[in-house]
Amino acid sequence: MTTSDTPETSAMTLDAAGRPTERRGHVAELLAATVARQPDTVALLIGDARMSYRELDQATAVTAGWLRARGVQAGDRVAVMLPNVPTFVAVYEALMRLGAVMVPLNPLFTARELEYFLEDSGARMLWAMPGLPAVDEVAGNVDVEVVTLDLEAVGRECAVEGIAPVTEITPRDPDDDAVLLYTSGTTGRPKGARLTHTNLRSNAMATATGLGRLGPDDVVFAALPMFHVFGLSVVLNGAVFAGAALSLLPRFVPDGAFQQLQDHGVTFLPGVPTMHGAFLAVARARREAGAEPADFSRLRLPLSGGASMPVETLRAAEKLYGVPVLEGYGLSENAGACFFNPVDAPIRPGTVGRPVDGFEARIVTVDGTVVPEEDLETAGELRIRGEGVMAGYWGRPEDSAAAFDDEGWFRTGDLARRDEAGYVLIVDRLKDVVIRGGMNVYPREVEEVLYEHPDVVEAAVVGVTDERLGEEVAAFVSVAPGSAVTEDELQAFAAERLARYKQPRTVTIMDGLPKNATGKILRRELRG
Ligand code: AMP
Repeated sequence: MTTSDTPETSAMTLDAAGRPTERRGHVAELLAATVARQPDTVALLIGDARMSYRELDQATAVTAGWLRARGVQAGDRVAVMLPNVPTFVAVYEALMRLGAVMVPLNPLFTARELEYFLEDSGARMLWAMPGLPAVDEVAGNVDVEVVTLDLEAVGRECAVEGIAPVTEITPRDPDDDAVLLYTSGTTGRPKGARLTHTNLRSNAMATATGLGRLGPDDVVFAALPMFHVFGLSVVLNGAVFAGAALSLLPRFVPDGAFQQLQDHGVTFLPGVPTMHGAFLAVARARREAGAEPADFSRLRLPLSGGASMPVETLRAAEKLYGVPVLEGYGLSENAGACFFNPVDAPIRPGTVGRPVDGFEARIVTVDGTVVPEEDLETAGELRIRGEGVMAGYWGRPEDSAAAFDDEGWFRTGDLARRDEAGYVLIVDRLKDVVIRGGMNVYPREVEEVLYEHPDVVEAAVVGVTDERLGEEVAAFVSVAPGSAVTEDELQAFAAERLARYKQPRTVTIMDGLPKNATGKILRRELRG
């Protein structure tokens, strides 16, 4: 390859292996460094198809050329509403190369939601998967150019119109916005977390290096949607920085996803608790049918994050995979993971471990006191500071100011405490705590008890309004297929294991709990 084929990397300092050393800087340089160092290794695996890093780089250059020809410039917002397909990866990399700002959106959004995100972000273009009714509905109302091309079609148009590929990276300040990631945060309507180039780059580098030194021999399972922070940062950017292959899965169907782990030889398995739970169910069904669940001999690092991993599920998953499952924690607002259990020390089930490189954390009580490290009893709000923490919310100075305390620490809205090893436990989301007659009930504690029941597959506990007590504890569960367990039996099971005030007054068995695209249980819907 001649140097003119590769993006500009001259300003980057590289280590002996050819990886960037600086965590501050342009996020597009992550791909550039990997292409320069290992152009022929696999970047993307989808079904039986493969794409090398050289091919991904070329697809990125062609897509960037096409976008530039359509007038997309540095700083412009472009919404992307695609599942985990090669087009997502190339469009993202192309936008980064041009210095434009990606606004990732869930393809399941309704027209109303989509309209809100497009208007709020001021996106000039929406790159969507074809055939989405919400897109057709909105196209007439919002001033946005809609694109539904795949990479082949982009290549054809560029050939016909004589559009030149873009190989150079448009310079940006490391603190300029790269992605607006919409999140509900702790309150209110969804807000666009402004993730800068440095936020994304540093998080990808810190997690890929810290978590088992991800490298070119690794195959990263990419089922977590890349429009969510975990999929974008730990999975996509982490793999690209490390030069690992991404095993893409556009649509999660448990049996097929489980099979893909084996077929693609997955080594690094980032998931959410419900994904690991789904794999346990597939393994159980395969065993019941007299088959071996799967060959996990290549798997070296399963991860869990996005929601608390019930300890029972964690232990069962470890048994299935044959290696420890590392739980971590992060938010949209900090561009990925800010806590993880360590790879080189014992994990502590039920905790999210220690701060990832580049982050520091403190726990602060309601009255503003910082909880000392040796205090293992007191819970308070987890606050974080560091390279990954967002610049603020897009177009919302008041919300942005309220998200940080006077000393510049970001308020996560999560209640946490430390254990004896200094690892952090996420007790619950502050707003999910049930206050029953003045006593705090932490839903997670009640859920952990329900998960101990062998038939319980999913559990969520919420507070429901009660005239006398203010709030009352209500549990919702889904159970294994064929289970004969009753609601009364589950209630009695919980009652035997919990103090009176924490016991659920109702247990409702459902066919499946309502979840969002990343497998987070939608408690709001359960509160009714
Ligand atoms: P999001 O911005 O959608 O990624 O949501 C971030 C929120 O997910 C955090 O504020 C936590 O409430 C929750 N979360 C993420 N990871 C964990 C975890 N390991 N344990 C408990 N809650 C988590």
